[in-house]
This record gives sequence, C-alpha cells and structure tokens, in this order.
Amino acid sequence: MNDVTNKKFALHWQILIGMLAGGLIGVLLNLNGREYSVILEKDQAGSFDKVEMQDVNSMVLISSFGETEKKNSFVIGSSPAYSLITHKTLSDFRADEPELYSLFQEHGRSWARWISDWTKRLGDLFLRMLKMVAIPLIVCSLTSGVLGLGKAERIGKMFGRTMTYYLCTSFLAIVTGLVLVNLIQPGERSEMAMTVATDSVVKSAEPISVMLFSQLEKMVPTNPFQALADGDYLSIISFTLMFALCALLVGGKTLETVRDGAEAGFQVMMKLTLAVIALAPLGVFFLMLNATALNGMEVFQPLAWYMLTVLLALLFHACVTLPLIVKVIAKRNPLEFARAMSPALLTAFSSASSNGTLPLTMASVEKRAGVKNQTSSFVLPLGATINMDGTALYEAVAVLFIAQHTMDEPLSLSLQITVALTALLVSIGAAGIPHAGLVMMVIVLQAVGLPLEMQGLILAVDRVLDMFRTSVNVWSDSCGCAIIDRFADPVADSTAS
Ligand code: ASP
Repeated sequence: MNDVTNKKFALHWQILIGMLAGGLIGVLLNLNGREYSVILEKDQAGSFDKVEMQDVNSMVLISSFGETEKKNSFVIGSSPAYSLITHKTLSDFRADEPELYSLFQEHGRSWARWISDWTKRLGDLFLRMLKMVAIPLIVCSLTSGVLGLGKAERIGKMFGRTMTYYLCTSFLAIVTGLVLVNLIQPGERSEMAMTVATDSVVKSAEPISVMLFSQLEKMVPTNPFQALADGDYLSIISFTLMFALCALLVGGKTLETVRDGAEAGFQVMMKLTLAVIALAPLGVFFLMLNATALNGMEVFQPLAWYMLTVLLALLFHACVTLPLIVKVIAKRNPLEFARAMSPALLTAFSSASSNGTLPLTMASVEKRAGVKNQTSSFVLPLGATINMDGTALYEAVAVLFIAQHTMDEPLSLSLQITVALTALLVSIGAAGIPHAGLVMMVIVLQAVGLPLEMQGLILAVDRVLDMFRTSVNVWSDSCGCAIIDRFADPVADSTAS
C-alpha cells in the first residue's frame, strides 16, 4: 500500500477537478458560436442523399445527392455545437462526398473542430493506456486470485454468490426504473417536435436465445491467444479460470511455479496500472471536454422528462439500494466505500466505458477499499462484462418511454414483465463500451413489438445518460466486491498486496 494510499485524498479530488474543468470548458464552447440546424437524410443504403443546413440568419443551403427515394432521416440538432457533431459524422464520408464536405467546412467553425479532434485524441490516448494494462492485469490477477483461494469448491461458492448478487441487483434496478417510468409517464409529457428517425445503430436484432448462446460460446474460445488479442473478456476470464483450476489440480512444484509467475506478473501490472492512474485527472479532463462540447444543450429540452426519469431511477439505485446493501450485508460504511471508489466512478462517468475503467476499478477496490485480491480479481472482470445495473435500468425506462410515446394504450403488465426480463438479459450481453446499451435496445424493442426506428427519439441524449449508467454499472460491481469479500473464506496465502 503505497503511492496510491498516500495520495488517495489528492487523487479523487484531482480527478473531480479535471472532470469539472473539462465539463465547464466544453459547455462554454458549446454556448459560444453561431447557431445552425442541420438535417441529413440518408437513403436505405446509408449514404446521404440530402443535406439541409440553416443558420440563424435563415440562410438555407441545400445540397442533394443521389436520386434515391428518402427512406431515413435524422436531425443532428440546432446547436452551436453541431459543427463539432457534423464534423464527426463527416469524417465518415469525407473522401466519398468532397462536395458535401466542403459545404460543412465552409460553415463549421474550424477552431471548434480543432478542439473536438484534439480532445478526442488525447482522451482516447488515456483510454488506450487503460486498455493496454487491462488484459494482462486481468489474467495475472485472476490466476493469482484463484490460486490464492486454494480449492476448487471455494471458486464454485464464490461464483454462485457473485451471480446471485448480479442478478438480484440488476433486478432491483429494473424494478426501480419501471416504477418511476410508470409514475412519471415521461412519454406522455414529452413534446417531440423535432424530426427523428433512424441511425445506423438500428438493425434488426438476433433472437434473444441466439444472443445468450453466443455469450456461452464465448466461454469456449477456439483460440485463447486470439481471444487475448481481440480483448474478448468472457473468453479470457473463462480460459484463465480453467487454466488456474488445472494448475491447482496438478499441484506440487508446477503449482508453485504458476503461482509465483502469476503473482510476479500481478505485482508488475499493478505498478503499471497505478502509473496510468496518475494520469487520470488529465485523461478525464479531455474526455469530459469532448463529451460536453459535442452535446448541445437544446437537445435536452424535449427529452427533459425522459432524462429526469432515467436519472432519478439511477440516483435511487446508486444512492439508496446499493448503499443499503453495502451497509446491511457487507457491514461497511457506504460513504467511505464510495469515497475509496471515486477515482473509478469518476473515470467511468467521463469515459462511459466500464471495460475501459476496469484497471482503475481493480486498483481502487484493492488499494483504496482494502478488498482482497482473491475477491476482486474474480468479481470485477466478470462484473464489467455481465453485471450492468445501470444499463438494465436504462433499457427498461427507455423502452417504456418509447412505448408511452408511440402507443395510445399503456404497455400491459405482461409486456412490462417481458421488458424487465429482456432488459436483464440484454444487460448481461451488452459490452462495457460506450453506447452498447443503445445498440442492444433493439432486442428489447423487438421483444415487445415496438418499431425499431423509434429508438431515434432518444439518440440525441444517449451519451449523457451513458455516462451516468456506466458509473452505476461500476458502482454495482464495486459493491459486489465488498459483499462477496465479507463472506469470502479466509485463505492461508494472501496474494493481495
Ligand atoms: N457504456 C456502458 C458501460 O460501459 C454500457 C451501456 O452502454 O449501457 O458499462
């Protein structure tokens, strides 16, 4: 317990300051500038066939492409920030549509694009560093953690408890979301004046059984080295577990060698992780700046009730349900635990990626919250992949919101139960990356027969909500660690540092 513990007070304040400063500058950038509204229309093949651009002086510029009949369209927004957004969209077809590109270039603000580009690059650099340490850290930590547990039955017990915790909290999160969305009825209150329709995320989904089976398939990687290279968490976790279990069965000198190797690798990777974490305040600054500069405030207004419902439900789950579980079951002070976890929670918020945050979550849980390595090495990587309370809650609220907005009748109880169950399964299948929940939502929409393109209604605010739900995902994983750790059998060999 070292550098991080000594600087622990400083670190979460540093990250908070980085986050607030980035957010503030982003908002200021967003407020400052000319106002444009842009309508891009896409044909079925996904290429742009019409662009309309209007500035505050009502000068309308129209440029049309292709002869295809209009099938899809979406409004990017009426925001001074939209030149940042369009620039992002533009990079996709810069080469194919030079005429369109120059149209935007002429009217976009070059300094804003410059800031957008560079904050994105620098923020992504920080995320790359976290991703760089994640896989070797998981492999070494999980191996040394399982070998530290010493017996296969202890692993079985821990697995059972972990899965029970994941399912119970995700279920509680969904119930919270459903209660609030039924009480507040955001879909009835929202005036959606803007034209919204589909985006590339809207595709028809695989049946839920296929999605779940593909998760199972991932647990049997045909090539574990390929899984390492692809960063496929479920494959890596399951192979590492099998490897460590077999090392336990072989025992003797082989077991000692594997244990020493894993332990040495873990110590080195933790050192590297802590070095990366020292850069978190800067990384978070750039991530926040980019996120806030890209999101124009005016898109929030028609969706205010919807956002309020999601945020209230997330707040309740994060500040009431989970702390109660920590207090009553883990017998820990939830406030102190949250403070110890704050570097991970703030980074999750800024990056909207629980996979990306994983090294920080592992380091915070072990070095700041004092959870044993045997517990965290098992609970956290699994949690980052399959335990997503925030995402499950969000799926339920968003789909009910869409149903309220689209249908005359409220969704029946049995269909709401279908939403709850599919939201739970979808949260297990969703990857811990930005917007994964939005992409997976088509499965829930399909399950209750809602039109997939209605997802376009909520696209504009997904990034903001993603930041909140990712923090809740990481917070739930961390609380799970505290609980499982309390009931973990004492082990003779402590590999935790
Ligand atoms: N971004 C979330 C996560 O990484 C997943 C989601 O989109 O809900 O945990």
